[in-house]
Amino acid sequence: MAKDPGRVLIFDTTLRDGEQSPGASLNLEEKLAIAHQLARLRVDIIEAGFPFASPGDFNAVQRIAAAVGTPEGPVICGLARAARGDIKACAEAVTPAARRRIHTFIATSDIHLEHKLRKTRAEVVAITAEMVAYARSVVEDVEFSCEDAGRSDPHYLYEVIEAAIRAGATTINIPDTVGYTTPAEFGGLIAGIEAHVPNIDQAVISVHGHNDLGLAVANFLEAVKNGARQLECTINGIGERAGNASLEELVMALHVRRAYFNPFLGREAGSTEPLTGVRTEEIYKTSRLVSNLTGMAVQPNKAIVGANAFAHESGIHQDGVLKNRLTYEIVDARTIGLADNRISLGKLSGRSAFRARLEDLGYTLERDDLDEAFARFKELADRKREITDRDLEAIVSDQAQQTEARYVLKLVQVSTGTNLRPTATVTLTTSDGAELTEAAIGTGPVDAVYQALNSLARVPNELVEFSVKSVTEGIDAMGEVTIRLRHQGVLYAGHAADTDIVVAAAQAFVHALNRLVHGIDRQPLHPQKASLPVAELPRL
Ligand SMILES: [Zn+2]
Repeated sequence: MAKDPGRVLIFDTTLRDGEQSPGASLNLEEKLAIAHQLARLRVDIIEAGFPFASPGDFNAVQRIAAAVGTPEGPVICGLARAARGDIKACAEAVTPAARRRIHTFIATSDIHLEHKLRKTRAEVVAITAEMVAYARSVVEDVEFSCEDAGRSDPHYLYEVIEAAIRAGATTINIPDTVGYTTPAEFGGLIAGIEAHVPNIDQAVISVHGHNDLGLAVANFLEAVKNGARQLECTINGIGERAGNASLEELVMALHVRRAYFNPFLGREAGSTEPLTGVRTEEIYKTSRLVSNLTGMAVQPNKAIVGANAFAHESGIHQDGVLKNRLTYEIVDARTIGLADNRISLGKLSGRSAFRARLEDLGYTLERDDLDEAFARFKELADRKREITDRDLEAIVSDQAQQTEARYVLKLVQVSTGTNLRPTATVTLTTSDGAELTEAAIGTGPVDAVYQALNSLARVPNELVEFSVKSVTEGIDAMGEVTIRLRHQGVLYAGHAADTDIVVAAAQAFVHALNRLVHGIDRQPLHPQKASLPVAELPRL
């Protein structure tokens, strides 16, 4: 991508780095739904995955490249270590996209060179040049990352970057992998690269960072001040540990404070031009979609997309807001596409209205899935008078999880109450057509259901999280259950909503179980070459 000082590129890595969050793994349909929404949000680049990791990852990147990588759409990028096999698989996976990128990386800190790579500094420079050139021989657009840049000797870093650009890298990414840097230090690192790498004018400087000290967004903004023009971020800031820099916070900071960040301010006309190409009106919808599909809730006080970010509940504020919105609000809620939680559909709404509203919310369902979702909608409309956008999201985010399902919940029945031992009967149908039934006694109705499901599935697991919250207000509200199961150290999330919370709990468990079973089946793509168990994804 051409270097433009007036434009900050948004590189979304929700589907690669974000998906590495414990318990956030997504299936193919869910990844596609998010990728389509990221295209509507108009991010510049989507990092769709790490194709060499497994056939599932390869397939997901390839499908996203084909479906979303249109000529007007975003650049589709895949991650690859600086090794031929990785780069080859990556090139193949991104081929269907009109605009494609390979993102390759190698560590540049002495500690990594010594202990992980067992290579000398000169050897790493040579590998960088060779692998970037190889990537450049298969695609036009090559990004190179210096893993652990923050702990690398700056003079050595300049040397590696210079070699990467000479070999054809068009974007140079500087990650703060462990989230240790402060804004002044990070800005200084970028300024140093601008000043000391002789051919830096031929590449876009990118930044990547984690939020361990809550500084990722601040670090990135300081990097922009010092010349960085690509930001690697995720929706809702999801990602390993404390997460990545959050896209909505970065975009809105650059939007609200565009005069402050604009490099041309006072020098050229048009200094209030937006710095990013993102359609801010799609932000809220994207945040909801990612939260629903990953089962990772957004904290209520989260900047920009939290439930309280635009709620002015204290009396003084409310009065001020009514008199003049700008008294207490620096962002108009409509800028991020936050409409009221509308009552969108009712009992009499037809299929086409249902489908249109879903598409507006970012969900495109295939015929069978649409039929099933519509049936669930009708069923809900019989029980609940007013169906809101949140209810619709709850219905379809469950739907998306059900593809590739080993088990489908057919029946759940519970008897409980005072002087009764909670007893549950459940029936599952399996993907090969069998029907399994089991009954169990528990300490409570949900426990009884889970005991019964566990004795059917017979996969050892530990329930590490169980939360219930209501989707909307009112006694007829849908209850939303999110759970996490642990199996051999890996977390699997399940999420479901129903007006009956015991049914929602049972569904959520079955969803998590399906992911768990699917996760066990995930085999490495090149078992003889790859040393990449799912738990050992790259640390960028
Ligand atoms: Zn990362």
